[in-house]
Amino acid sequence: MGTPVNPYVKLIKILKLERQQGYQDRAVIGGMARFATEWEKEAQALARNSQQAALARDIAALLIGYTALPDPETRKAVIDEIVRRVQALVPEVFHQGESPGGRLPHPPIESKGGPSPTLPAPPSRPIKEPTAPRARAAVPEPSPDTGLNAPVTRLPGVGPVNAKRLQRLGVETIADLLQHFPRRYVNYATLKPIGRLHVGEQVTVIGNVWDFGERKTRGGKTLVHAIVSDASGSIQATWFNPYIIRQLSRGKTYAFSGKVDAYLGRLVMMNPEWEPVDRELVNTGRLVPVYPLTQGMSQRWLRRLIKRTVDAWAPRLLDYLPADLREEIKLLPLSEAYRQIHFPDDETRLQEARRRLVFDELLLLQLGILRQRQIWRSRPGIPLQVHKSWLDMFLGQLPFELTKAQERALGDILRDLQQGSPMSRLLQGDVGSGKTVVAAAAMWIVACNGGQAALMAPTEILAEQHYRSLLGVLSDLVLPNGASLRVALLTGRVRGQEREAIQQGLENGDIQIVVGTHALIQADVHFHHLVLGIVDEQHRFGVEQRAELRAKGRHPHLLVMSATPIPRTLALTLYGDLDVSTIDELPPGRQPVLTRWLKPAERERAYAFLRRQIEQGRQAFIIYPLVEGEAEAAIEKAAVNAFQHLQKEIFPHLRLGLLHGRMKGEEKDRIMRSFASGELDILVATSVVEVGIDVPNASVIMIESAERFGLAQLHQFRGRVGRGSHKSYCILISEAATPDAVERLRSMETIHDGFRLAEKDLELRGPGDFFGTRQSGLPPLRLARLSDTQTLSLARRVARRLYDQDPDLSRPEHAPLAERVRLFWQQHTDLS
Ligand code: ADP
Ligand code: MG
Repeated sequence: MGTPVNPYVKLIKILKLERQQGYQDRAVIGGMARFATEWEKEAQALARNSQQAALARDIAALLIGYTALPDPETRKAVIDEIVRRVQALVPEVFHQGESPGGRLPHPPIESKGGPSPTLPAPPSRPIKEPTAPRARAAVPEPSPDTGLNAPVTRLPGVGPVNAKRLQRLGVETIADLLQHFPRRYVNYATLKPIGRLHVGEQVTVIGNVWDFGERKTRGGKTLVHAIVSDASGSIQATWFNPYIIRQLSRGKTYAFSGKVDAYLGRLVMMNPEWEPVDRELVNTGRLVPVYPLTQGMSQRWLRRLIKRTVDAWAPRLLDYLPADLREEIKLLPLSEAYRQIHFPDDETRLQEARRRLVFDELLLLQLGILRQRQIWRSRPGIPLQVHKSWLDMFLGQLPFELTKAQERALGDILRDLQQGSPMSRLLQGDVGSGKTVVAAAAMWIVACNGGQAALMAPTEILAEQHYRSLLGVLSDLVLPNGASLRVALLTGRVRGQEREAIQQGLENGDIQIVVGTHALIQADVHFHHLVLGIVDEQHRFGVEQRAELRAKGRHPHLLVMSATPIPRTLALTLYGDLDVSTIDELPPGRQPVLTRWLKPAERERAYAFLRRQIEQGRQAFIIYPLVEGEAEAAIEKAAVNAFQHLQKEIFPHLRLGLLHGRMKGEEKDRIMRSFASGELDILVATSVVEVGIDVPNASVIMIESAERFGLAQLHQFRGRVGRGSHKSYCILISEAATPDAVERLRSMETIHDGFRLAEKDLELRGPGDFFGTRQSGLPPLRLARLSDTQTLSLARRVARRLYDQDPDLSRPEHAPLAERVRLFWQQHTDLS
């Protein structure tokens, strides 16, 4: 026979012949199924890597099924699929002398007929992109990604209704859709002949549907099934959704993906994914993406839409990273990364795609941060003196000793205050970790230096609470110059003469320390010499408000405090190496809040528990969720109804108070005050209402529909109790339908450390939500995860280098990157 023929060349030759003969399975003696086994051996022997080995396996499986395929059309589809895969992985086959000629390859991506009419709406029509990407790429354009910002309605199959649904996912433009990344993937890449299946495998089979049937389960549900066969055997596919068999046609060929199970000794697939094989496989036969969805939208529909969009649009993305950099650190080209993140060829490609996209996010973030920091740092600051005797005076009169973590944080802050550039520091610590006293120490040092300090809180109640704690630790102190320390409270409630006196004291410098709300940044408030601005619960304030506080002095030092912990790994990246202090230790003697998840059916038990606690003199919170998308009026109504029900039917002899978002500030404050003073037994509140008050006597918090909240928020709620000496409890009420929700609720039961919960939250939801714009003032990260530490430090290094070489990114080769940074940071200009 002379030199052995490359098995792929042979294969393509046979497939070509098969086409010419009209798909009659006559191209090889004995049929394709027989040919397949021999061919696979040859191909396996020559496979150069695992991809090629997998390819050989897949092709063999497709060929084994071929003989059993009922009609020329589905046979053609299978051959198209094989050719497509060979082209993707061993393209050289087509460039050899044995080339099957220009006619054979290039299977159509969509078959001309489109889906069968029984498919659910919306129809997935073949994509007719007027500006075909490949044709375009040949002609350089001034702005190659024009069009990506077009609304999704530009896409076939997306009308106003679907556009509305997509909008609920945050997807408005084509670019948004490309960035709607899978939450996870299911591995259906293993294709197997039915005769070789084993129980427990997660696989894809390709076969004909021969027969249908249905039966009732004991629970009264209808189970439908289809019998699926290829040349090697048959298997039953079963669904709970009777609608499915109406979409399958007898005698047609489909791919089915799922787990192989056994039922009464026979192999079955329960609820497999399926799709016809006459189109490129999207739901089966590969690593299948699983997208975040919204009501009225199916995975299948979204997958198809994204597949078409990626195919047509990803090639038009401009790669803004300089090519030499990309090569140096071995990153995929941008368009390839987008293709692979949505529809990965295999696990390796998927990881490469993630690496590229995560790198980009972190790089853009870093570049922006470096720039902001530079701008802020270059301003002249107000260097302070820190004498040990001053510090000892403060610490000596505290009723407790600082924890090690508090000492560290205070050390960081005092070091900053002595520098010649303005401090810009985040102080983070779990609820109750004692941030206020650290802030108080810093304010005291400022006063010793003859400066003023202002602490701004998001609500009047919180401001008043801080005022009381500050008075507690500061009021007995005498300044080094002999003057007594004056601490004032400025909120909307402070009016008339009292307000005038405070304003005057701030303006002439008689008042050294002031605590307040937004009232502090009103135009008529002037400071004599504001040296330190502190913002509590920083995420409750906008970037502008922070800037306004700063504008009350000349480049004052700024400290922002947050009880929403940012895991250290991420904090380092987001804020650079110097600007975060973390109090990661609670004062001694705190007991963890015992947390239990109950089903709604067990609500009575929770009520009984509340009653017993209140009989013992304690108080309780009941929290209702804000239902997203519901009008505020509806929420109010629901809250009022719940409240009335609780008061009349459940706790008729107890004193209840209600708080909801539409109440006036004064009314809210009045209710919270009466709860704080013990006049109310139970505070019923919607989740929109800040209940950030210190009520040491409260020992139970009950949270309705707890699955709707993220871990960070649940932990915040839980922090409302356990602030005194009483053993405290958190009761989560939830039906928890999804696995994610179950894991969140279980985490709440077992984890009491806010940082570990924050890590868990990131693990479950990704940082996108966590670092929502509202929370941090940072651009949302869609893909980066805590576990990406390597990419994270790589991005930091590269950003630093780029920044050192070309701080404004003004070199021509950096122009596209500069533009990208600008877009990324568009609405987030103040980070310091
Ligand atoms: P948060 O960090 O949530 O703002 P706070 O500053 O309100 O916490 O402190 C919570 C409580 O812990 C306060 O009553 C405070 O007096 C107390 N506290 C703070 N530091 C210590 C400490 N080192 N030892 C004992 N109690 C402390
Ligand atoms: Mg606090």
